[in-house]
Amino acid sequence: MKFDVDKDGYYGSFGGAYIPEMLYPNVEELRSKYLSIIQTSDFVEEFQSLLKSYVGRPTPLYLAKRLSEKYQASIYLKREDLCHTGAHKINNTIGQILLAKRLGKQKIIAETGAGQHGVATATVCALMGMECIVYMGKHDMERQRPNVERMRILGTTVVPALSGSMTLKDATNEAMRHWINNPTDTHYIIGSVVGPHPYPDMVARFQSVISEEIKNQLLTEIGNPFPDYVLACVGGGSNAAGAFYHFLNDEHVHLIGVEAGGHGVDSGESAATTALGKPGILHGSKTLLMQTVDGQVVEPYSISAGLDYPGIGPLHAHLFETGRVEFMSVTDDEAMVAGIELSRTEGIIPAIETAHAVAALAKLPLEREDCVVINLSGRGDKDLETYIRWGKY
Ligand SMILES: *Cc1c(COP(=O)(O)O)cnc(C)c1O
Repeated sequence: MKFDVDKDGYYGSFGGAYIPEMLYPNVEELRSKYLSIIQTSDFVEEFQSLLKSYVGRPTPLYLAKRLSEKYQASIYLKREDLCHTGAHKINNTIGQILLAKRLGKQKIIAETGAGQHGVATATVCALMGMECIVYMGKHDMERQRPNVERMRILGTTVVPALSGSMTLKDATNEAMRHWINNPTDTHYIIGSVVGPHPYPDMVARFQSVISEEIKNQLLTEIGNPFPDYVLACVGGGSNAAGAFYHFLNDEHVHLIGVEAGGHGVDSGESAATTALGKPGILHGSKTLLMQTVDGQVVEPYSISAGLDYPGIGPLHAHLFETGRVEFMSVTDDEAMVAGIELSRTEGIIPAIETAHAVAALAKLPLEREDCVVINLSGRGDKDLETYIRWGKY
């Protein structure tokens, strides 16, 4: 397929595996084995069975009537917020832990930003009885306290990352360092479509269940599997990759990725990677990232910890460059207003990451007959403190 990764792990000019030599055996083991393992019937059966009975899939595709009335179009919400643990992240962690088991690994490490990927990883480690360490920026630990405690309750050790802005990128650096020092018995569960090949492709495949279900559900609901628009927020890009995956070759479906504009794209405080980024190497792949003229990574900023990342996955960099996906950015304030609006019109309090995708509705040239799917990546429970501090409701 046109947007598939090539045999060297590239999407156009982005991707690859730019890793220290000491990480090579780990990544090479994964690269040479992941496809054959995840395509066995034994793997597929166990994955699908857990997605159904443990995660709660298929998640509903819900026609949001009051929101549709307001925006004068048919708006459907893909309810990933109803997944076990409250976000789409668990689709990927279930897939990766099943893979880790088949690779004979005994220990799991992960990085986390908002804490959702950490919780999803801690959850599957408890489920499979595996030891788990999660790296998390100290700043994120403070603003996502409930998720830190959830991980601890689940039996995971949470290690604070103390460098840089003490957020997601710093936690990722720490996790990579740990993996280098523990190459044989440990699998690193990366939480988004980022990192060296084969991670972006592997994570996109695990998340692609989202668009597979959207297609089937729309076909049943309206007799046509193709919406006019699919909207998803983009941190690293895993929920967006999952929501776009099976529509990539259907060029009549408009795919919209929504980035965090923070205090404004030109404010110096944002995480709007496609608007501001240049090609460079981040966390093992060539992609777009926010950097200074001399190539230093710029500290990202967003009110939502899950979007607070200076890069995007290489697939998205390619989709941006080829124009297949249109990227927009939404500011903190616009996202918060949209989060309250969704709460009041549909009775659904979204994660603040997700609220960015909802806020993009107002920026689309919608017509009455348009069918729009918003990927509702997660629920807002973890963000109550941020909603309370923002206060305007
Ligand atoms: C982690 C997270 C995101 C951002 O990550 P992606 O890999 O871009 O999907 C978005 N929404 C929620 C609810 C999250 O937990």
